[in-house]
Parts: sequence; C-alpha cells; structure tokens
Amino acid sequence: MIYEGVVYRPPSERKSLIIQVTVGCSHNKCTYCNMYRNKKFKVKNLEDIYEDIKCAKDIYDSVERIFLGDANALCIETEKLIMILDKIKSLFPECKGIGIYGSPRDIYNKSAQELEKLRKYGLDIIYSGIESGSDKVLSMVNKGTSKDEIIIGGKKVIESGIKLSLIVILGLGGKRLWEDHAHETYRVLNKIQPNYLAFMTLINYLGTELNKEIESGKFLMLEPEEILIEQKLILDNLKLENCIVKSNHRSNYLNIGGKFPEDKEKIIKKITGKIMDKNDNIDSLLRLI
Ligand code: SF4
Repeated sequence: MIYEGVVYRPPSERKSLIIQVTVGCSHNKCTYCNMYRNKKFKVKNLEDIYEDIKCAKDIYDSVERIFLGDANALCIETEKLIMILDKIKSLFPECKGIGIYGSPRDIYNKSAQELEKLRKYGLDIIYSGIESGSDKVLSMVNKGTSKDEIIIGGKKVIESGIKLSLIVILGLGGKRLWEDHAHETYRVLNKIQPNYLAFMTLINYLGTELNKEIESGKFLMLEPEEILIEQKLILDNLKLENCIVKSNHRSNYLNIGGKFPEDKEKIIKKITGKIMDKNDNIDSLLRLI
C-alpha cells in the first residue's frame, strides 16, 4: 500500500483503515492552511486504489471502519466513488462504515440523489471544515464557498441519512470580524443541524498567506480570552437538537465536550468559569456578548 505524503484524518477515525483515493487538496487556497501545500492535487487511478484495497485485505482479516483520504476526496465523480465503495464492500463485507472529507463546495456540488446513492454503498459520514458561517470571513480566507452553499449542502447531507461532522475555526475572523464570525456561524449551524460539531482554534502557520498578513499587521489575532468569549457567544446561541459538540483539538484553549441540548448548560458554565479565571475585568468583557 502506498500513501503519498502526510496522512491527515479526523481524530474519530484513528482506528480506521485509511485508503488514499486523492492526493492533496482540490482547493488548496485557504489562506490559513499549510496541510497540502507541497502536494499537487490528483485523483488516484482506479487500478491503484483497487490494488491498495486488495493489499489491505491481505494484511487485515477484518476491518471495522475505513476512511478515504486525502482532503476533499468527495470531489471525485460519484460513479467512480461508488466503484471504490463497491470494491470495499466486496472485500470487506464486515466493514460497518466509511468516512470521507468533503469541502462545503464539493458537498454542494453533489445532488441529493448522488448523496443517497453514496449512503447506500456504505458512506456513513462526511467531515467538512466549514470554518465559519460568515461570508465576509469565508471570502477573506479564500475558502472557495459561501454561507448559502454551506447551508444547502449541509442540509442535503442530513436529508440523505449520511452523518455530518462540521469543523469551525475559532478566531478566524480576527479582531475585525470576530462578532460577524460568531453570529453567522451559529446561525448556519442552527439551520443545518449537524450530527457532530468540532471546534478548532486558528493557528498561525509559517509559510501561509495568513502568516504574512499577521506579520504585516493586516490581520490581528484574537487573544486567548477573546477566543473563549467568541466561543461562548457561539455556544450560547446554538440551538442544536441532537449533536455531539467537541472542543478537544490541541489548538483549543479549553477542552470541552458533550451532547446538545442536554449538556449545553454544563458546557457554558465551564467556559464562563474559564473566562472568569482569566480576567479580573470580566464584567466589561462579558458586556461584549
Ligand atoms: S483548509 Fe481544507 S480546503 Fe482549505 S486548503 Fe486546507 S485542506 Fe484544502
């Protein structure tokens, strides 16, 4: 089995067999991201993918879950994806589910019928970094999508029966757009009603466009306590009916997790406590939200 480059996969797929179906990212233009900068994007050819699946079968008697890498592998044309899923099904009939990364634009570009078909062939979860619900922020970071596309695509996934795990990046609006980022993000999430929501915090990676903007003073990063206030504003206004919410990535300032709506109050209490620990001037900070 050959995997080109560094493997990126969602934390929840750590025990999954990983089959690489694309190399790199089909978009590769987000200003804050350095994950695939050195990989030229390509869709692997079917023979090589089949060979990898057969090779995995020689190694593993039984596989519980499979994750299809790299970024945005959902961009592969549906018929080809179905052939890959079908091959997996024939060699690993015991496999309980298959996950994939899909950018908001790639999700938006799939029809409801295509998503339904993918679910029937075993795709059971799509992980998607929406990062923000704010058109101003999405445009500023060159995400290649819009709030409306995110909502339409996200709803289609939920309706298809495929589970949807969304990622939001705290601090992505910087000091200038943090309020817009927070308000528009919870609005989008409330409309989509994802099954899972993960928070990450913006990291200033060397070599990115964002890094240059930070160095030049064009983009002002939020301070840790401002990140927590932004996160509290989002959480306060989330009306998720059945969603696992996590903020346990190494980039986050506070590890929180639980199920919405039942754990909402407990989570908000924890984040409020952390904000108060960090600030003597809590009243003026909380007035911001
Ligand atoms: S954040 Fe995702 S979509 Fe954007 S360049 Fe990185 S891997 Fe590609």
